[in-house]
Amino acid sequence: MSERGIPFVVSAPSGTGKTTVCRGVVERDPKIGFSISHTTRARRPDELDGVHYHFVSSEEFAELIAADGFVEHAEYAGNQYGTSWSAIDGPLSQGRDLLLEVEVQGARQLRERRSDARLVFLLPPSWEELERRLRGRGTDGPEAIARRLDVAHIELAAVHQFDYAVVNDEVETTIDAVLSIVRAERDGDPAPVLARYGRARVVAELGEVLPIPGASRG
Ligand code: 5GP
Repeated sequence: MSERGIPFVVSAPSGTGKTTVCRGVVERDPKIGFSISHTTRARRPDELDGVHYHFVSSEEFAELIAADGFVEHAEYAGNQYGTSWSAIDGPLSQGRDLLLEVEVQGARQLRERRSDARLVFLLPPSWEELERRLRGRGTDGPEAIARRLDVAHIELAAVHQFDYAVVNDEVETTIDAVLSIVRAERDGDPAPVLARYGRARVVAELGEVLPIPGASRG
């Protein structure tokens, strides 16, 4: 294991199933911990404060920003989310790898500020499947769905900022893929996983099925 832990950043367009994949990764690999973010969003019934998130008020969040307490933070769907320095500094300096599940603006900030970060983007298997998943969430009207699809389109373009891209077709296979990336980076031998999941390669293959700007077609 390297002396310092590695921050693995996992991001995806909304509706790609990122949370399930991230939970699976930390459950299966005891050497990687989950970075617990701060958020101003209301706690859902199945969530625990201090486990899934640190749930804070807008005032507390603003104070943390003012005190330079966040390595990255962003607004998403009307709520604030951020990774505090205290969530990552201790574990990383003790040699523990961390998984940071963030939306794409946060991933961009981590790309710029943390040269040690490895960025993994999860992709839906096709645009049709992404549409189906976003529509299938239930209660939203057509306007809300159209807005989500617009956002998903923009989020897909973010793949170009990432090191790795993994298609989330079948969740167990996706977890295995992310675990193989984590282990290869930890072992200092990423060449084989880069050959398989390197962003440029995956994007070139998926230009046909996903509307990714800059993807080669044909
Ligand atoms: P949710 O409210 O569904 O838990 O999360 C909404 C979005 O915020 C998801 O895309 C999730 O990955 C992202 N997110 C969670 N924690 C953070 C964080 O600390 N920073 C950023 N930038 N995004 C986060």
